[in-house]
Amino acid sequence: MTRNREASRALYDRALSVMPGGVNSSVRATQPYPTFVRKGDGAHVIDHDGNRYIDYVMGYGPLLLGHDMPESISAAVQRAASEGPMYGAPTEVEVDLAEFVARHVPSVEMVRFVNSGTEATVSAVRLARGFTGRNKIVVMQGGYHGAQESTLVEGDAEHPRPSTSGIPQSFAEHTLPVPFNDEERVREVFERHGEDVAAVLVEPVLGNTGIVMPEDGYHETLRGLCDDYGSLLVFDEVITGFRVGGLQCAQGKFGVTPDLTTFGKIVGGGFPVGAIGGRADIVEHFSPSGDVFQSGTFSGHPVTMAAGLATLEFCAENDVYDHVNALGEQLREGLTDIVADYAPEYTVVGTDSMFKVVFSRATTDPQSEPCSAGCRQDPECARYGECPKTGADVANAENQRWDRLFRPFMEGEGVLLPANQFESQFVSYAHTEADVEETLSAYEAFFE
Ligand SMILES: *Cc1c(COP(=O)(O)O)cnc(C)c1O
Repeated sequence: MTRNREASRALYDRALSVMPGGVNSSVRATQPYPTFVRKGDGAHVIDHDGNRYIDYVMGYGPLLLGHDMPESISAAVQRAASEGPMYGAPTEVEVDLAEFVARHVPSVEMVRFVNSGTEATVSAVRLARGFTGRNKIVVMQGGYHGAQESTLVEGDAEHPRPSTSGIPQSFAEHTLPVPFNDEERVREVFERHGEDVAAVLVEPVLGNTGIVMPEDGYHETLRGLCDDYGSLLVFDEVITGFRVGGLQCAQGKFGVTPDLTTFGKIVGGGFPVGAIGGRADIVEHFSPSGDVFQSGTFSGHPVTMAAGLATLEFCAENDVYDHVNALGEQLREGLTDIVADYAPEYTVVGTDSMFKVVFSRATTDPQSEPCSAGCRQDPECARYGECPKTGADVANAENQRWDRLFRPFMEGEGVLLPANQFESQFVSYAHTEADVEETLSAYEAFFE
């Protein structure tokens, strides 16, 4: 279906004159030009030309409930905004939200709120370095921790280099990238550098180059290495937090307890947010109780805190996770069937309310029963030897086909997907079975 997208095109033309690349976050500059959203409506967005799309971008993760705030959340946000947007003094609602997070997330005793996921990981790395007195951090190749100096690093542990211009090589030398799911490599890196490693920083599920699930035992191995060498295990749950595993987050689902956890996205209920949580004896090293400086004018913003608290309370009191996870499973199962029929070399990935088809180049059998609702890295699956296990495996997929042909096709069918092959797609509480069916038909129309 071709749609009139002239208004988006004209807005992008204006934007290109006054904003670099026409956008405020690089990932939004989709091919051939972005869809400018005028408003959200449940699971849908409506663009400036009046087109309606089923939305799986969902703000790149924060919008667990979809675009409409339920009454309780909308009331809390409006109350906070009408009482003066912020004060630079503590408020009750930030204590309430910190208590909620500490009550539900296994590893969290204390929490510091900040304004973005990036700020959370920057602060977590500084805290880990301050606490341990060490400089090096281990990260996963293809992991993403926001737009920050310490983690925009590629290569391997012996040859790390900045992944963008603007970062000195001497900064990158403190970062040790390893492949996700490779126990042997991370053991080797610890044997060589363990005494200097402040922290391992890892997404429990690779969500920005993926979706890649951990192999059985991988996080336990990281936990054990950190214990043996006195390093901190930091889970970056900016995507998975309050999505994978519900209110206990991915650490509860996998049964592995990190020392620190970074949050963002859902915990702010759609407003800018980040947070660092963890063991009290570590988190108390933040100033003013400790010697690791951390501060922010907008941190713990009352409107954000009110939105985050009302969102999580809504999730605790309603069937949010049952709903989004069931639709996620329905999508992954449907996609596995479609791919088996038309594109057996591709791999369906995801868990809970995250899903994606990786345009992999497998030559063996399609996914079989153990992974029929998304790749589980299960050795019993016929595809096990070729399913994406690292960020590099996803990067080797048919990314151009995804970005330039598939995504624009889906946009034409009225299904809005993230900019590229790497970013996760999200199901919200507002999506319905009818949306899922329409979505599966659109996928089938592309592949058949
Ligand atoms: C989105 C994301 C970040 C960065 O958060 P921002 O709010 O965009 O700065 C960090 N880590 C992970 C795992 C993310 O998904």
